[in-house]
Amino acid sequence: MRIDVFTIFPALVDAYSTVSLLGRARKNKFLDLRCHDIRSGAVGIHRSVDDAPFGGGAGMIMKPEPIFGVVERADPPRPLILLTPSGKRFEQSDAEELSRLEGFSFLCGRYEGIDQRVVDNLVDRRVSLGDFVLSGGEIAALALIEAVVRLIPGVMGNEESSVDESFSGGLLEYPQYTRPREFKGYTVPDVLVSGDHESIARWRKVKSLLITMEIRPDLIIERGGITEEEATLLKEYADGEYENFKD
Ligand code: SAM
Repeated sequence: MRIDVFTIFPALVDAYSTVSLLGRARKNKFLDLRCHDIRSGAVGIHRSVDDAPFGGGAGMIMKPEPIFGVVERADPPRPLILLTPSGKRFEQSDAEELSRLEGFSFLCGRYEGIDQRVVDNLVDRRVSLGDFVLSGGEIAALALIEAVVRLIPGVMGNEESSVDESFSGGLLEYPQYTRPREFKGYTVPDVLVSGDHESIARWRKVKSLLITMEIRPDLIIERGGITEEEATLLKEYADGEYENFKD
């Protein structure tokens, strides 16, 4: 997969993506990440990329010429996605969609944002990391790149590892534990060491449902509520019906 990133801080994007999962994905040729310096598209002795807003107001706006210049020269893979708080909030389903593409690109804003002519005439879509304001699009781009690249088959090593995660079935993930079985008097639920795989699967499903209902009821609504089978499972759990199925 080829991903191009347009930013005034290419070193920042590059530094993060040379280690850990992205670093390995680049080294193993799953990811061809190209960082472009928007400043290289700027003209004039000061190579200025920003200017004051027409109509007045606080801060500076990124000028259109450097961005058009660098993007047109790079001819990057599309869609070209602008990171902005005014975009559609990015979700796991968007990561899944992008992970099936051969490539795409990110445009990172800075200052008070980007000249609207770039948004209207160069960018294909607008995406937000969440309902908060960052100082630049780089962290958002890196977060999205990581969310996408880890879904490319082979990148995580264990192909199973993204299957059961939060959001994969419209639910948050169940609690996970590892050794030691007892730590400072805190124990691991018996069911997880019972060796009874059916009970473990049921327990995990119940926990996923309970955690999602408590923390993200919007996700339950979005998936159309809970099924009859899930309701039965929750009741069985609440009634302590099976010895092995309990915490
Ligand atoms: N004035 C803009 C506004 O009110 O929407 C905010 C500009 S912000 C200080 C500078 C840049 O950070 C944006 O152009 C965008 O690229 C990036 N950014 C900030 N918050 C973001 C978010 N929630 N998601 C994605 N990018 C964000």
